[in-house]
Amino acid sequence: MAYQTINPFNNQVLNSYENISDDQLEKVLTDSHALYLKWRDEPSETRRDTLHRIATMMRYEKTQLATTVTQEMGKLIGESEAEVELCADIADYFADHAAEFLARKPLDTVIGDAYYEKQALGVLFMVEPWNFPYYQIMRVFAPNFMIGNPMLLKHASNTPSSAEAFVDIIRRAGAPTASLTNLFVDYDQVDKAIADPRVVSVALTGSERGGASVAKTAGENLKKSTMELGGNDPFIVLSDADMNKVKRVAPVARLSNAGQICAASKRFIVMADKYDEFLTMLKQAFEQVKPGDPMDPATTLAPLSSAKSKTTLQKQVDAAVDAGATVFYGNHPIDLPGQFFQPTILTDITKDNPAYNQELFGPVASVYKVNSEEEAIALANDSSYGLGSAIFTEDTKHADAVAQQIEAGMTFINRAWATLPELPFGGVKNSGYGREMYELGFDAFVNEHLVVNA
Ligand code: NAP
Repeated sequence: MAYQTINPFNNQVLNSYENISDDQLEKVLTDSHALYLKWRDEPSETRRDTLHRIATMMRYEKTQLATTVTQEMGKLIGESEAEVELCADIADYFADHAAEFLARKPLDTVIGDAYYEKQALGVLFMVEPWNFPYYQIMRVFAPNFMIGNPMLLKHASNTPSSAEAFVDIIRRAGAPTASLTNLFVDYDQVDKAIADPRVVSVALTGSERGGASVAKTAGENLKKSTMELGGNDPFIVLSDADMNKVKRVAPVARLSNAGQICAASKRFIVMADKYDEFLTMLKQAFEQVKPGDPMDPATTLAPLSSAKSKTTLQKQVDAAVDAGATVFYGNHPIDLPGQFFQPTILTDITKDNPAYNQELFGPVASVYKVNSEEEAIALANDSSYGLGSAIFTEDTKHADAVAQQIEAGMTFINRAWATLPELPFGGVKNSGYGREMYELGFDAFVNEHLVVNA
């Protein structure tokens, strides 16, 4: 069966789900479209209390929700709890800000009184990945629930129980059944649903391959889409960086969620005079991780999400080494039955090495030595990706000038990536297009309806 929960800590199959039929899909499309027509006549305020209630219930049921995620994709239990809290914050944020975002905007024109108003577009199809099974849904769900766009969800095949738990809690909080429907569907059914005239837009978070395929279907059918794809984010350490800050941030920036974060720092680009110190510090931090049961709060290294993820990462590291990269630390098997991967540091990655322009989705850091700031910026930009980036320097004014030169959707100075409802999230180049979160995310799927009264 395609949709299965397999605990990556012990390889136990916990749940399996049957795909739905085309007839069931047709009914869901009808119901979702009917809800769109109903919501069109209701102000968004009527949904505000429900979204706040979803937030409250998520906080209240945090332990159970977090356990589902940890048993399904292996995340450390503390990280799963933090994900649930973040989801609640996102729900509260959009419930609180929707009225302001939806307020009519008057326009200056010589031809009369003019304004535009953001209106719902219709049914939205979302395709989401397993790395933050609730958060990825909530980034799309909360704003679109307030706008009045009913949603269909195709979640990753290895996180079906999290998808079911999300839908269950929003329904118990009072969201109408058709506001978000989780679908166990194959790729053909995804294409079929996107082509259906009742679906008007598409949001995908995932790999370049998945994004390109779904974006193609959306494009062929002239459906608006956002694509939140992979990253190979640079973490630049300049000569005047405070190495205590770097020491605190760099290991976490790479190892959180067992390294499976799109906007995690993956390429560490370090000025020559800080290089040896940086490598020693990163190695010491990587040596200290404790692999184990992710349900145990004492564990600091979780397994990867699946056997497939581990195999893919191992092949990438092997290919990098075959092409001349040096393993500065790690890359030894961990003697546990789960899908563990030892934190690994690669150096000497040349431009012709496959790892140079590949996203390594796990606890593997690529470290580069550079001799000037210009070289650091050029290397940071020499990537087909452009999601996030980080710069470490004590000259914060100058950092701003460096940030302007980085080809990325997000740059953080003296800290690594962050995701908060009030900050827009997204990338450029092959990291995708469009933004989620903040007002920019809210505006992704609205009709900015212009009215001119002469
Ligand atoms: P993936 O293979 O693209 O899967 C993501 C989702 O897309 C899953 O639900 C998957 O379903 C579905 N999918 C893939 N190909 C499809 C197709 N042709 N038609 C319909 N659905 C399709 O991505 P992944 O490798 O599991 O996820 C990790 C990637 O996501 C990394 O590259 C990571 O950087 C990226 N990511 C980006 C962001 C961001 O905000 N920019 C956030 C998190 C993750 P199945 O599971 O059934 O294949």
